[in-house]
Amino acid sequence: MCDPDMELPAEIDLDTKIQAVKRELKEIDQEIIHLTSRRKRLEELQERLQVYKLQENSNALVEQKWDAETFSWSAKVRTTLKDVFHIEKFRAQQLAAINAVLSKNDVLLLAPTGGGKSLCYQLPAMVTSGITVVISPLISLMEDQAWALKNIGVKAEYICSTSDKDLVKSIYKMLREGDESGIRILYVTPERIAKSNRFMLALQKCYNNKKLALIAIDEVHCCSQWGHNYRPDYKNLGVIKTMFPDIPLLGVTATATTKVIGDIRKMLNLRECLILNAPFNRPNLYYHVLEKPADKEELNDFLAELIKTRYRNMSGIIYTYSVKDTEELSVQLMQREIKVLPYHASLVAKDRTRTHKKWMHNEIQVIVATNAFGMGIDKPDVRFVIHHTLCKSMESFYQESGRAGRDGKRSDCILLYRFQDIFRLSTVIFSEYEGLDNVYSMVKYCINGKDCRRKLISKFFAEVWDDTNCDRMCDRCYYRDKIQLPEQDITTHYNTLLAILRRAETLNTKLTALKIMDAWYHKGSPKNRLEEPPPLMDRYIGEQIVAFLIVNGYLKEDFQYNQYSAISYITKGSNLVLEKGIRFQPARVLRIPAESIVDTTNVSRARLPSEDLEIISVPSSTTLENSSSRNSLTKRKVSSDIEENDGYESFSARSSTSMSSFNSTAISNGSKRKKRRKADSSNRSQLSEQVVEENTMQITSTNVDEDEDVLFVPLENEVIEIDE
Ligand code: ADP
Ligand code: MG
Ligand code: ZN
Repeated sequence: MCDPDMELPAEIDLDTKIQAVKRELKEIDQEIIHLTSRRKRLEELQERLQVYKLQENSNALVEQKWDAETFSWSAKVRTTLKDVFHIEKFRAQQLAAINAVLSKNDVLLLAPTGGGKSLCYQLPAMVTSGITVVISPLISLMEDQAWALKNIGVKAEYICSTSDKDLVKSIYKMLREGDESGIRILYVTPERIAKSNRFMLALQKCYNNKKLALIAIDEVHCCSQWGHNYRPDYKNLGVIKTMFPDIPLLGVTATATTKVIGDIRKMLNLRECLILNAPFNRPNLYYHVLEKPADKEELNDFLAELIKTRYRNMSGIIYTYSVKDTEELSVQLMQREIKVLPYHASLVAKDRTRTHKKWMHNEIQVIVATNAFGMGIDKPDVRFVIHHTLCKSMESFYQESGRAGRDGKRSDCILLYRFQDIFRLSTVIFSEYEGLDNVYSMVKYCINGKDCRRKLISKFFAEVWDDTNCDRMCDRCYYRDKIQLPEQDITTHYNTLLAILRRAETLNTKLTALKIMDAWYHKGSPKNRLEEPPPLMDRYIGEQIVAFLIVNGYLKEDFQYNQYSAISYITKGSNLVLEKGIRFQPARVLRIPAESIVDTTNVSRARLPSEDLEIISVPSSTTLENSSSRNSLTKRKVSSDIEENDGYESFSARSSTSMSSFNSTAISNGSKRKKRRKADSSNRSQLSEQVVEENTMQITSTNVDEDEDVLFVPLENEVIEIDE
């Protein structure tokens, strides 16, 4: 073994010594690889053990059959379900949660958005004799639920900072003295539990009088700092178990990472508790990633076309990255005659509520929002959720896209991906705890050319879904046989990129991802280019490769502040190249056919565009009115503005006209695009490094590929449409 601190003697044979050091360095590299892989496996084991640990102390609870109908209250539960809630069948884990709570156990129910978690405290509230207190994080959410309950004849109230003083007084009196007002469910904010002595005294009285039946905490993940919606006041809710140890506590959330669940248990002092996990897979949601056009006009045209044809008369949400994007996109869509309003945290509360209501009542078709449009959106018939920019994390993506299709009908979750957006996010988020990892997990989701989207999402939850569960309800599975690109060894590309970085280093410059791409493709400043010719593959694949290398640690983002913001420069990462090289399967990006209509009559299977046209023969039930009126709790007035009856005739006519209009748009967009590309390339050299997010990236065109009876039509930025 060589001693790194040795004094070099004069007579040493340098070549031999260098060889020995090289050998030893190689051994160390191998060891690092071995240890890194062992570390990864141990981390996975740790994760699995933590799942078991979550159930620790609760073995007896876990073993009971909670979804039986042999409890003394079972008959009453059934009739209440039918007569009060007008629901025929329980969804996954609903009955189990209700029975466990009625048996006075503490329960954490993890079920996806739209899984029907509220019923699990609303129904017990109707079966027990005391009062049920529900802690809810948002006033709008309390309002909605109380309103819906009153509509079906259940006495429910809520108190918040803006509540009428007399009402609050009478509710406190009712809690203290248990009068005959008949209130079954009382919604309160966590602040009231944390900060209002008067309320807590009244609740204590209610408890002493044996009139407190159940405490439920909605969106219980707000307790956890690991969750994506941490609310400081939630951390005080641990007091509930101390004050009311024998009152069952039900926490419900759609967040199910083991870390968050463990944290919730700790924060709420739940020693023994049943954790119920409803399947997180949402079979009716179709997941699709689209290449986002670099040109804003083109992007806005595309979105407008999509909303006017594929989603005509259907309700949806577009999530944007910033307040500015939200405002701008709303204006653009309005100009394209779409009924849309922006929603973000900078609007005053009154305007936000008004916009939310208009959307709930279908007076506007689309809400363009930041992530401030969050928890508790209970609109059953949201047919599409579009992410205009990469999400901050997989968890937020799952939550936000999960607002589609709460009624169980087929809905689309589309994410618009663009290489530059990675850096738009990373430069803002890099200082947050695990911020970069979260963004990178999203990038992995977007550029994965192989795996089912569901499989990738499921990795983030304690439960792992089966690949085959997807039933072609994601772009990867849907087009699987037709558009797979082969896996490649990208080690030589990696070496080229490292050579570009070394060259920049000798020139004393730093390169952003955009500059690296330019140097690699022999664009931009000539001084950064290598002698070797640019790669033959299309630039979008080159971008995927660079993104892959970054998110897998072969390259690294290095953040530096200038006076306005942070800039991401690319450097060599710490991940080592193994002997088998770096393998990557690029993703071919597909345009979702704007002309095909989302068919809500078929929940379980994606349809080919040509099959979509077949549904002309089915009298359609896809209007906003029809789909929302099915739902007993959300029977709301539908505005005549965007409600058009979709009978057989108008539907068939629409399919054929929209088809031809889409084709012509695609063609005219094509020629516009060429002109823009020219303009772009002449401007590019003037772009500064700070404007990574604003740049328009040059992309070479692909050939029309006519193999296997599938025609790939190159559309905007290599977005390829399958035309069957
Ligand atoms: P979340 O789990 O996201 O809180 P909600 O409790 O708001 O979901 O329920 C979503 C919708 O599903 C509501 O409109 C509710 O009335 C409806 N719902 C709940 N349970 C059932 C069921 N068993 N069958 C049909 N609809 C249900
Ligand atoms: Mg809910
Ligand atoms: Zn799939």
